[in-house]
Amino acid sequence: MSEAHWEYRVGLGEDVHALVPGRALMLGGVQVAHHAGLLGHSDADALLHAITDALLGAAGLGDIGAWFPDDDPRWRGVDSRTLLEQAVQGVRQQGWEPVNVDCTIHAQAPRLAGYREAMREAIAAALGIEPPCVNVKAKTAERLGFVGRQEGIAASAVCLLRRAAG
Ligand code: MG
Repeated sequence: MSEAHWEYRVGLGEDVHALVPGRALMLGGVQVAHHAGLLGHSDADALLHAITDALLGAAGLGDIGAWFPDDDPRWRGVDSRTLLEQAVQGVRQQGWEPVNVDCTIHAQAPRLAGYREAMREAIAAALGIEPPCVNVKAKTAERLGFVGRQEGIAASAVCLLRRAAG
């Protein structure tokens, strides 16, 4: 039996959205109870946007802004899982498959520990991988900067892709 050979690519994604009253707070495809939510053209799920950019970056397919322009009415209020699923589809069409995703949410509030497993499952489902291949971390900003002042929430993500070589 011949040994499997794979090529690998890693990608990085970052996102920031402002926190404003009167919006639902969506993070990692999960609605989080909070007095404010993230402002954006879509549902403004900063974590899913960071993951989408990490995937597109790993595959060399550009970025979320090029794929889903924020002046396109199709994406107004859209569930960001739809954007992530479309990006994954594009990545898979190039022969790539996600291996794992690691990500961090930077939020002073609310506490997110109780939502991490649900986020992990939602992200894994959108990517078509198993929940153990997705890790979600949350950090405060020690009350420093825009995150510390609760003016916004940031997210960062890395994703590894592989495809059969040759
Ligand atoms: Mg965004």
